[in-house]
Amino acid sequence: MNNALYNFTAPSNEPVLEYLEGSNERILLDKELKRQESVEIEIPLIIGGKEIRTGNTGKVVMPHHHGHILATYHKAGEKEVNMAIDAALEVNRLWNNLPWTTRASIMLKAAELLATTYRSTINAATMLGQSKNIYQSEIDAVCETIDFLKYNVSFAGKIYEFQPRSAFNQLNRMEFRALEGFVFAVSPFNFTSIASNLNMAPVMMGNTTVWKPATTALLSNYYLMKVFMEAGLPAGVINFVPGSGSLIGKHVMNSYHMAGVHFTGSNATFNTLWGQAAGNLENYKSYPRLVGETGGKDFIFAHPSALTRELAVAAIRGAFEYQGQKCSAASRMYVPESLWPETRDMIVSMAEEITVGDVKDASNFMNAVIDEKAFDSITGYIDYAKSSNEAKILTGGTYSKEEGFFIRPTIIETVNPHFKTMEEEIFGPVLTVYVYKDKDLDDTIELCDTTSPFGLTGAVFSQDRIAAARICNKLRYAAGNFYINDKPTGAIVGLQPFGGSRASGTNDKAGGEFNLVRWVNPRTIKETFVPATDYKYPYMKK
Ligand code: NAD
Repeated sequence: MNNALYNFTAPSNEPVLEYLEGSNERILLDKELKRQESVEIEIPLIIGGKEIRTGNTGKVVMPHHHGHILATYHKAGEKEVNMAIDAALEVNRLWNNLPWTTRASIMLKAAELLATTYRSTINAATMLGQSKNIYQSEIDAVCETIDFLKYNVSFAGKIYEFQPRSAFNQLNRMEFRALEGFVFAVSPFNFTSIASNLNMAPVMMGNTTVWKPATTALLSNYYLMKVFMEAGLPAGVINFVPGSGSLIGKHVMNSYHMAGVHFTGSNATFNTLWGQAAGNLENYKSYPRLVGETGGKDFIFAHPSALTRELAVAAIRGAFEYQGQKCSAASRMYVPESLWPETRDMIVSMAEEITVGDVKDASNFMNAVIDEKAFDSITGYIDYAKSSNEAKILTGGTYSKEEGFFIRPTIIETVNPHFKTMEEEIFGPVLTVYVYKDKDLDDTIELCDTTSPFGLTGAVFSQDRIAAARICNKLRYAAGNFYINDKPTGAIVGLQPFGGSRASGTNDKAGGEFNLVRWVNPRTIKETFVPATDYKYPYMKK
């Protein structure tokens, strides 16, 4: 056995390719988009390395052209959930007893395959299946996925490196065991990279998973699973189980061996999972680790010293990229009266320039929202604002689901800082602005802190550095990722570890070593060289 102590230095982040017309990467991507559009693939379950077809099927469609079917997928029932749990448990010992450098090499190979052979595959699947434009897909499906895989390897090394001191007559060691049981990875539709990381972070630390992917991200998630297998992931380490979340969740959460939940998605779903874990505590072998990153009601706060153009660009990019379907998307904004007329004119004119449409037309800044349920929910908020005398729609407010689920970027101005769209997570291209009197700065900071139950991301814009520091401090718990003079989206692995508290989750910071610590179950071993031979202590002797 190779007993070298190996150190993986922190990697540099994967470069974002430009996809200029005529470039090699653009030609390859266009070809792959055509290929994936022209076939309807079948997506089986993958349990213990084997493809399983249940015959109970559903369809994967393009959100921007929902009549176009991309795939038929098979849904798991109770039997398949049990098979997935058994497969994860069967390989558990083998996997966590491997030298960690072997696990690391599989992560690094998966990263390399995604950077090269499968770059266009994973991008095309994310673009078509989740309606992301080239740039949004490249920064997520390719770059962030690769960054998670590579950084986790170096974070794991740092964790394994940690050892306690040894005092006189003893040797102390820490052993970083995997959790005893399997991890339930439950992923959202909006980031391919998160789907990868919810599995691969625990897997790097020696765990095995049962993976419930989001139905609306199945195309890219299936290709991811194939890449993991090609990279050498042994059968059963990750078990890919599409189907109904509530059905799969109920059976998995009942398992005696459920050792952890790695979740990203809505606050409501995480609360359900937490409730099930709490109700099952007597039935588990160990207290499960519950790690969940959930929703946000992310803000941009403008100080009167802010520069209006910077503010307007941050608002447009922060609120409307990927149709506002980022957990970090700006969805409420506080602007002082003195800056408002100029800021308003700029954001309205920028929003009106935006075109919304097919992902293959590179001039579209925005594409479709994910599905009909999301479309109905988002447009419900828009209609509510239209009918209220406390709000007016400054731009947008129109939508159509005829061909695809398209919603124009919508900016609402409200006179009520507690207006519904200032408080609830909408998860769509809707930004609500509250204009405050400059003299009410302190009260407005307080409002910003207390308006929403979430605490995910937020930004302050200010040229006055002292004011920025003061606001940053006052809004200490309002955001787990706080930005000064930048939009509140776009956290990068290794550079801005991501997550928030309050109703936004457990804040275990994906993209940092804190997250990986949750997936180990450390054992401390103390060895005494010369053990005691008399039970009496010296002071007891005459
Ligand atoms: P969702 O909660 O609807 O679904 C997430 C996953 O949970 C899906 O795979 C779904 O099938 C599954 N699920 C649903 N009910 C379940 C149940 N009862 N048991 C087990 N699994 C169940 O979320 P979504 O619509 O896919 O994603 C959007 C949400 O995710 C937004 O609220 C967004 O803010 C949040 N999000 C947060 C972060 C973050 O890092 N904080 C990142 C991305 C997305």
